[in-house]
Amino acid sequence: MSRFWSPVVQSLIPYVPGEQPRIDNLVKLNTNENPYGPSPRALHAMREAANDALRLYPDPDSTAFKHAVARRYGVEPRNVFVGNGSDEVLAHVFAALLRHDRPLAFPDVTYSFYPSYCRLFGIEYRTVALNDHFEIEVDAYGDDVGAIIFANPNAPTGHLLPLEAIESLAKRLPDIPVVVDEAYIDFGGESAVPLTRQYENLLVVQTLSKSRSLAGLRVGFAIGHVDLIEGIERVKNIFNSYPINRIALAGAVAAMEDSEWFETTRQRVIRSRERMSFDLRERGFEVLPSAANFVFARHPGYGGAALAAALRERAILVRHFALSRIDQFLRISVGTEEQCDALVNALDDILGKK
Ligand SMILES: *Cc1c(COP(=O)(O)O)cnc(C)c1O
Repeated sequence: MSRFWSPVVQSLIPYVPGEQPRIDNLVKLNTNENPYGPSPRALHAMREAANDALRLYPDPDSTAFKHAVARRYGVEPRNVFVGNGSDEVLAHVFAALLRHDRPLAFPDVTYSFYPSYCRLFGIEYRTVALNDHFEIEVDAYGDDVGAIIFANPNAPTGHLLPLEAIESLAKRLPDIPVVVDEAYIDFGGESAVPLTRQYENLLVVQTLSKSRSLAGLRVGFAIGHVDLIEGIERVKNIFNSYPINRIALAGAVAAMEDSEWFETTRQRVIRSRERMSFDLRERGFEVLPSAANFVFARHPGYGGAALAAALRERAILVRHFALSRIDQFLRISVGTEEQCDALVNALDDILGKK
């Protein structure tokens, strides 16, 4: 705390990102990174882009990437917004579309960045409880709010809302912006992007960090009606006109175009998730059905914090949230098959089954 800080900063609760520690032979299953590397074509494109042209500013509109996204999703490039990671995209979305007189609504259990952004931007918010199965109930969202945001699949639960539910919400509340954060959609869901043609209040946010295995590159994007995109562009151009550097742009385009690598790696993650869920259930865990690259699980006999600490002693990192309703749970990212085996073996050791 310093007297030089702006008042709003004095009141901010620091956001603590998942640990990135340096421990030898660490099995890192705490931040939902993809265990398989990025597309070799993307890596090649980035090496090629490391040239003399780096003395020049990059394309402020990331045109080549907007075109690549537009081609993949069957939209126009002007329906696409691009940012330095979807966290930055979300920040601009909060400023541009989610600050209204009425509060912003989001689930009581969801991505913990949302309340942080609200505090930063001075947005009043209201949380809407997940049901007893830890699922979003779209009918619980009324027209008495200024905007709505949630993740689909939701984080950290992994629960997937069907498209019909999203459509019914967008249709019922046509004057309220509805933002769907699809960071994990490629691991088991159907994207709501096609609905954005029909519902001009619907914005979909995605990232290259998870299914494209480029968390280190920092590229995210949003798709929606041009009016929504224009509002976000306005904020972005004042904040940072060149968010995507030349190397990232080359890598992002190539990654988006390499559907073969994308398909193979995401299918591997999906298979490992199913096996990991099975193995955990066999050991007495309750595992929520997941459409993401992580599972959310609790054991009736062991607390979440204790289990996370015991795993850490065995050089396995998982995520535990000391938050009401979910503090018994562990969020475990799906790793390679070897990493999933290491996790299961460590749990056998901890649960005393050996
Ligand atoms: C990982 C994640 C993001 C952020 O991704 P970046 O593009 O790496 O900033 C956004 N939303 C949710 C729900 C996530 O889990």
